[in-house]
Amino acid sequence: MHDFIIVGAGTAGCVLAERLTASGMHRVLLIEAGAKPDSLFVRIPLGMGKLFKTNLDWNFESEPHLALGGRRVFIPRGKMLGGSSNMNAQVHQWCHPADFDGWATSGAPGWAWNDVAAVFRRMESWVGDTGDDSLRGRNGPMVISPLRVPNPLSVAFVRAAHAMGLDGESDYNGRPYAGAWLSQVAQQNGRRFSTYDAYLKPAMTRANLEVRTAAHALRVLFENGRAIGVTVQRGGHEETLLAARGVILAAGAYGTPQLLQLSGIGPAEHLLQHGIPVLHDVPAIGSNLQEHPLLPVKFGARRPITLKRAESPLHLLAWQLFRRGMLASNLAEAMVFTSTKGDTAPDLELCFTPVEWRGQGLEPPQMHAFGCGVVLLTPRSRGTVRLRSGDPLAAPVIDLALLSDPDGADADVLAHGLELFRRIVATEPLASESSGEIAPGSGVHGRDAVVAYCGEALQTIYHPAGTCRMGTDNVAPVTPELRLRTCDNLWVADASVMPTVPRGHPNAVVAMIAHRAAEFIAA
Ligand SMILES: Cc1cc2nc3c(=O)[nH]c(=O)nc-3n(C[C@H](O)[C@H](O)[C@H](O)COP(=O)(O)OP(=O)(O)OC[C@H]3O[C@@H](n4cnc5c(N)ncnc54)[C@H](O)[C@@H]3O)c2cc1C
Repeated sequence: MHDFIIVGAGTAGCVLAERLTASGMHRVLLIEAGAKPDSLFVRIPLGMGKLFKTNLDWNFESEPHLALGGRRVFIPRGKMLGGSSNMNAQVHQWCHPADFDGWATSGAPGWAWNDVAAVFRRMESWVGDTGDDSLRGRNGPMVISPLRVPNPLSVAFVRAAHAMGLDGESDYNGRPYAGAWLSQVAQQNGRRFSTYDAYLKPAMTRANLEVRTAAHALRVLFENGRAIGVTVQRGGHEETLLAARGVILAAGAYGTPQLLQLSGIGPAEHLLQHGIPVLHDVPAIGSNLQEHPLLPVKFGARRPITLKRAESPLHLLAWQLFRRGMLASNLAEAMVFTSTKGDTAPDLELCFTPVEWRGQGLEPPQMHAFGCGVVLLTPRSRGTVRLRSGDPLAAPVIDLALLSDPDGADADVLAHGLELFRRIVATEPLASESSGEIAPGSGVHGRDAVVAYCGEALQTIYHPAGTCRMGTDNVAPVTPELRLRTCDNLWVADASVMPTVPRGHPNAVVAMIAHRAAEFIAA
């Protein structure tokens, strides 16, 4: 029998599997509903959109959205070894000290910046320059690189932002940040380097680690209030898998609360509605869903230098021979972080893409254009993840509840961001690259007009978090040591434990959480 079963081999699951097997003292079984990441589109940095709606994607959809005139939002999630780290845009970001200090002061002691910064440093091998080498890691498993061939438009965006007074002198990792930068990416020599590459792949040769793919966890099994294993469906059959020391859920911010509810842990009334016997009435499981809303903005490009040409034979050859050319782009090549309220920590990101982004990346670009996602980093709106039925294979009901905060503060930040991006585009050297605004269109100004545009265009940046939040209060389902409060031998270690979604791109934060979880669990 194994000591531990880890459910989900995504960003967190890959780190957990490697960390828990490193000492040789524990036998670990890692189960993953998806397959091995054998697609070329996983390795090609710009291939991410080609993975959407394939068998490597859970291909979720939100519930029809009130603020978006009843529209549903497409929600891609990686379904493979590596999970969403094998499908994401590779931006590597520790996120802001204020995020972690906020977690600690709001009831998650032990998660302040001073507790976590050293873990981020240990995890990474940053191969770029830093002003202050003591802040960045050089020997960790996650290889982090500067962009190999940044698009000239991305460089112009950063320079224009600097010209407007948005800083960028210092590194955006390892310290507080506000300003404009080119992205640092999870790539090695022009190829995606996910947590699968960094952690799981090297650990798969260990005798004390077993990895099973195409194994969909249906529910957690309990005996006398302790988790003792999981039931999985594999090859059309149900199997019972037992663990001597416990189960660790790392199925992501949608998968983990779904699995807990299927196992009888969640809001009692909701579980009974779907015929699930209630083990523990925990209303907070599946609530507190937080996402970063993203408003797409588009300008025409004067020169034909955008990533529209990325799929040409020339660029395919350049990538295959030299791991260079447009296919080495991570799409989200540059970023501005700023505060709309004059605070030191940002609440707004402008995520720059040197290409026309159409239909959430499901449609190819039709014209040479560039743009940005205006991203709200500190949403007040809260959504839910609930069961569609008692069928464990049915997709969960995801209510993103974007822009549902009662005072409308979330929409205000988006309206502010749109105007800021327009000012950057009007500044040299980006101004001479632009042939004019395409979307939302120069007539759209002010909060009400922006909210109306959200109806047709708002999406998210795919950063769900918070659905099994950690905390010391009685309502928080998970303790700061990442144990489920109501059961023994059951831990949660993925994006769902975050009390609030951090002010940036969260993949490295999830990996950091998994690192610490492995330490808590092994102890
Ligand atoms: C398109 C996209 C772009 C993104 N871009 C960035 C970016 O540039 N930078 C950044 O920092 N972050 C980015 N993110 C977010 C980041 O990738 C996620 O925050 C992170 O991967 C979440 O890690 P996780 O371990 O919580 O979940 P995941 O990585 O999603 O892992 C969950 C795993 O559990 C498996 N699973 C789920 N349910 C079950 C079940 N019942 N049985 C068995 N297995 C199951 C899934 O198949 C998956 O492998 C992006 C995400 C997406 C989707």
